[in-house]
Amino acid sequence: MNVEYQRCEGAELHTSDGRRIVDFNSGYCVHNIGHNHPRLVAALKQELDLAGPAMLQSHVSGLAGELAERLCTLAGGKLRKAFFACSGSEGIETVIKFARAHTRRPGILYAANGFHGLTCGALSLMSNGYWKDGFGPFLPDTESTPFGDLEDLERKLATKRFAAFVLEPVQGESGVREPPRTYLENAQTLCRKYGTLLALDEVQTGFYRTGLFLAAHHYRVEPDMVVLAKAISGGLIPCSAVLMSDEICSSVYSSLKRAFVHTSTYSENALAMRAGLTTLDILEDEQLGARAAVQGEKLRASLRERLLKYEMIADIRGIGLLGAIEFKPPRSLLLRAPFKSFNLIHPGMFGQVVVMRLFRDHGILSQICGNDFMSLKVAPPLIVTDEQIDHYVSAVEAVVNDMHSSPGFWSEPLGIASRVLASV
Ligand code: PLP
Repeated sequence: MNVEYQRCEGAELHTSDGRRIVDFNSGYCVHNIGHNHPRLVAALKQELDLAGPAMLQSHVSGLAGELAERLCTLAGGKLRKAFFACSGSEGIETVIKFARAHTRRPGILYAANGFHGLTCGALSLMSNGYWKDGFGPFLPDTESTPFGDLEDLERKLATKRFAAFVLEPVQGESGVREPPRTYLENAQTLCRKYGTLLALDEVQTGFYRTGLFLAAHHYRVEPDMVVLAKAISGGLIPCSAVLMSDEICSSVYSSLKRAFVHTSTYSENALAMRAGLTTLDILEDEQLGARAAVQGEKLRASLRERLLKYEMIADIRGIGLLGAIEFKPPRSLLLRAPFKSFNLIHPGMFGQVVVMRLFRDHGILSQICGNDFMSLKVAPPLIVTDEQIDHYVSAVEAVVNDMHSSPGFWSEPLGIASRVLASV
């Protein structure tokens, strides 16, 4: 899949050898407005031409104030302040520190099977050993609770050890899993009862990916903190933001002496802030939230109609344009043996063969979920067209049909794997 790209525009990537690839991964939910949106490119060129104070760290950045105000207004509830950083992981680190400073408690509770980034603090809030093995020790006083289990959550919150409960409102990498309908609302009530902050990781779900500005808005929750990243700056400049209440912000920057206790060198740089403001303009002017909701429904309806008849399809789910096609092990004897061989070589091999087939044979860029190797993520840019959706659905159907009927689907990768194994 490592091809040479020449030009990336909207939802399409063009390679130097003349192939058209349709992006159904969006850089893991970065490219909500599409690749290299011309308005964003123009705004950044204009910002550079200004030769302004792009990165001083000695003055108050007007652009950062403007972006903070717009993000907080869109997020609503008690979110009134923003801390800017450069990645989602750095946003999670900020949540850990600010929640501890505000509550004076050491513990952080997190939902099992989530994904929060690969710095040591973020890894401390993840249960999947694949990401953690060999990198410990991690933060003490962190503990997981099963996603959706209110009884376990209350038992743990009642210890009053936890500064924050951190989770994705819809778990992306664990296979695009929505919570039970009232889980988040009840979790919020429990967090308030026991003095724990509710911190939502909306790094993948934010910026209208699920149809609304935040996924939290589907579940009527008002979190104390929200982490945003990825789509915030249209895919061109690293940026993230942690939104929080006035009170949490004041707990950290509580005196003149503590005015710099938490900073990040590039946090409010003018290009990132301009990118954030222009990305919001584009999302709003092109009504990409409403579009994500409509195109997402259309995409899922079409996938269900064409795929559910196949034995290895377990589920097609999603919200807005964050979706997944979940596969299951085959029942029939003919498919069971090669599937087992794939699994013996690597548990992720089946998914990667699907991804590779879509890419090589049909010009579709996609990926398997990081914590669920049997779920194929379906996340095109929010500007995806009907024609691109039709192309995707036909491509997936062709690959799924092949895995059920063509021995080549299984034998070709097994041949490659045996040659690799023989050479080591
Ligand atoms: N949170 C979620 C839900 C993510 O999907 C990711 C990255 O994929 C992160 C946090 C970490 O973001 P970053 O890679 O920008 O550090």
